[in-house]
Amino acid sequence: MSSPNKSIKMSEEEIDKALQKAEKEAEKKDHKKIWVEKMVKSAKTYYKVCPYFDKKTSKCFLSLNNKCNRDGKYENCPVFMDFLDTKYQEFTSKKKILPLDFLDLAQSV
Ligand code: SF4
Repeated sequence: MSSPNKSIKMSEEEIDKALQKAEKEAEKKDHKKIWVEKMVKSAKTYYKVCPYFDKKTSKCFLSLNNKCNRDGKYENCPVFMDFLDTKYQEFTSKKKILPLDFLDLAQSV
């Protein structure tokens, strides 16, 4: 008699856990999105052209010197976004405080 109820309760708990996990993931994503947007906005105050664009050779310093096919337009550039993503993961995994200014980020190793 108790087993069907128990199994229902278990699945409710599982659903709750899954929901909580999904909410946490969403919070993390939001946090990352907000930070990434802040970094792009900050970078734009310093750089008209991508700081990783070599004007002489048109190469990208972030993608192992592959050619940049965007003329240094880094807003929405997947390579630049990946860079910010990786930096976010690095800082949060080491529980370090995320920089609020792009120059601080660019200088961090
Ligand atoms: S590919 Fe993106 S990150 Fe690389 S130089 Fe061009 S704009 Fe910058």
